[in-house]
Amino acid sequence: KSKEISGNSFHFFRSGMDNRTLESIKFENALYKALDRDELIIYYQPQINSRTGDIIGVEALLRWNHPTEGFISPADFIPIAEETGLIVPIGEWVLRNACKQVKAWHDRGYPLISVSVNLSVRQFEENNLFQVIRNILEETGLEPQFLHLELTENQIIKNTEATLKTMELLKKLGINIAIDDFGTGYSSLGYLKDLPISTLKIDKSFVEDVMTDKDNAAITNTIIALAQNLHLNVIAEGVETKEQADFLSSRNCYLMQGYFFSRPLKAEDVVRQYFYSEN
Ligand code: C2E
Ligand code: MG
Ligand code: MG
Ligand code: MG
Repeated sequence: KSKEISGNSFHFFRSGMDNRTLESIKFENALYKALDRDELIIYYQPQINSRTGDIIGVEALLRWNHPTEGFISPADFIPIAEETGLIVPIGEWVLRNACKQVKAWHDRGYPLISVSVNLSVRQFEENNLFQVIRNILEETGLEPQFLHLELTENQIIKNTEATLKTMELLKKLGINIAIDDFGTGYSSLGYLKDLPISTLKIDKSFVEDVMTDKDNAAITNTIIALAQNLHLNVIAEGVETKEQADFLSSRNCYLMQGYFFSRPLKAEDVVRQYFYSEN
């Protein structure tokens, strides 16, 4: 069942409704208002080239600063945003603001880094995603090669013909598409070769115990080799220790993201920590 985002989708409210449903309706309602009330904030996590130590990009990660609950994790509210369709306006807001931010950095003479934005497959189901993104790039002036889109492997397997078409158009425009959380889903390798993607992002669950778990080390090695053989870029997420970073570097996987380098930061902290020292 998919509800529309009209202000009152509450006509089905009945007195017999249990507390949990009531709670989830309150939550949905609060999320609906969060955008207008400026409660959503984008944090940016640096992506590093371990060979040079340079920042090469940032991933935009959404945070909800709820007036009474405090910070709510995207893991808790993105699924609700997807169910209710709110992910469409929220996702567009993230795209626009992330592009605007990175373009502003470029204009100030900071390094020409990319920005990775997570997309829900729900956004691809809207038939105008391509136009929306093209307009955002035009409006903000960000060049397409600096925009990277991330779709999780589990979202990609829900792909339709239309989604694939949109991905192809986006790629033609010069945008990079990455498969996020790679290795955790159920996509077939044959399917992978037909997707218009440029990057595999190794899921943090493999990186996490790459030093202690032989199977995870083998899976990580295999994903890196797969990317190399298919001429795709590979980036590791969730790198928390120097040992993990060294393991990945020794396998020629140099692009990394994780707490070892930096937590997701507010925009001004990215500037303070990564751009001032280079000027
Ligand atoms: P993701 O895209 O796979 O993002 C990586 C998650 O790992 C982020 O969690 C990040 O904060 C966390 N992380 C980064 N480095 C480390 C590390 O070294 N160790 C550990 N344990 N975790 C690390 P976060 O910010 O809570 O986001 C969770 C998920 O929510 C994201 O997973 C993404 O799927 C989704 N999400 C976040 N923002 C958006 C958005 O704007 N749109 C959509 N559709 N989804 C989003
Ligand atoms: Mg991601
Ligand atoms: Mg991920
Ligand atoms: Mg993940």
